[in-house]
Amino acid sequence: MFRIARYRLVAWNVLVFSAILVVLGIIVYGVFYSQVYSSVDQQLKAQDARLEVYLFSNAGNLRVLEAPPNNLLDPAVRTVITNSAGQVNWTSDCPDSTYFPNNCSQDDMTPISADSIRQVLLSGKPDVRSTTFQKEPYRVRTFPMIIAGSLLVVQTSRIVQGEEGALNEVRDVLIGGTILGIILAAMGSLFLANRALIPIRQAFARQRRFTADASHELRTPLALIRANAEMLDRHGEQLPPEDSELITEIIRETDHLNRLVGDLLTLARADSESTAIVTRPVDLRDLITEVHEDLHLIAESRGIESAVSVNGPVVVSGDEGRLRQLLLILLDNALKYTDPGGRVELSLRGSDHHARLVVADTGIGIPTADLPHIFERFYRVDRAREHESGGTGLGLAIAQWIVQAHRGTIKAESQVGKGTSFQIELPT
Ligand code: ADP
Repeated sequence: MFRIARYRLVAWNVLVFSAILVVLGIIVYGVFYSQVYSSVDQQLKAQDARLEVYLFSNAGNLRVLEAPPNNLLDPAVRTVITNSAGQVNWTSDCPDSTYFPNNCSQDDMTPISADSIRQVLLSGKPDVRSTTFQKEPYRVRTFPMIIAGSLLVVQTSRIVQGEEGALNEVRDVLIGGTILGIILAAMGSLFLANRALIPIRQAFARQRRFTADASHELRTPLALIRANAEMLDRHGEQLPPEDSELITEIIRETDHLNRLVGDLLTLARADSESTAIVTRPVDLRDLITEVHEDLHLIAESRGIESAVSVNGPVVVSGDEGRLRQLLLILLDNALKYTDPGGRVELSLRGSDHHARLVVADTGIGIPTADLPHIFERFYRVDRAREHESGGTGLGLAIAQWIVQAHRGTIKAESQVGKGTSFQIELPT
């Protein structure tokens, strides 16, 4: 139980911590990315602005770019000027050529992004994007200019290998840091979870010990009360009838308390895992036949038909005493909750890896809403009947513990008014 709690605690801690680390990493990378590129974009924008002013003052005559003034063209920035159809009118990529068309090879030129041109022509706003040209990373700014009535598109671009390198380094450091952070978080939360669970574990152990000790301590006085009451009952004929009835009541209640205390003790021990399951080969066929022999007289006396169906010997590795207790709990319930004229059936089938045991009755059934809760401690469907049924509300909790301790499964199917069946699968 604590193992599951510890893993859940660790899993949640790691999940939350990882989410925080990932979000922080994304934010840090985003800030760094935008800072790196905003300075590149500024550089491109500055050249666009200078070009615009210069061409404007020269009435859009591109020939003026043959001998540009100092500081007009940033040597780190490549520039291409096209018309609105995307045809190149001038480019800084061919320093020898002056005015287009020239001998400049198209391969040497920064590619003109037709998509960017379309975009800026549609929106009238600059378009800035990252791209790759001749396997190198580039930042490209596309900018529309209307000069002397004609539309020009200026594309300024800059190689951003250094920036990309720095960004990749930051990314790698962040990824590495996040992975390391997650590993450290897992180790740290395991350590913290272990520490946090110590007082809870101790309190739980104390609680279990208390229940076990209290149940144990109650047994002796209960046995004494019962013995005394029995003695008085033996002399019942000398007592007034009211007293005799009171004694019978005392004996009944003491029996109920005894059962309750026994069940509590079983569950307290089951919780503390100190009740060892002594496993050895058990033939379920023999066990079922014996239990049925014990109970079919009671069934008969209540007018309930009982039957056993077994398809051969089925040997499981288990604790015979506990498996007997499991059968008794289920059969006792089946008899308790089935009216005279009904039927209780026990069946056992063995397959390659499993033994399948079914205890079915044609009794009052369990409402669908109650079905998921019946294995809970002290859960009873009909609280009004709990006393008259003589049950403790712990039977099915014990049955479930026994099955789970044998690495098996137990489930119940029921229909109100039609009956209930408990199906158990145990590994063979
Ligand atoms: P109890 O001692 O009250 O029988 P259990 O833990 O054995 O406690 O069962 C829990 C509840 O499940 C019972 O109170 C009863 O309402 C319901 N139940 C168990 N077995 C059957 C059955 N065969 N038919 C109908 N109801 C059942």
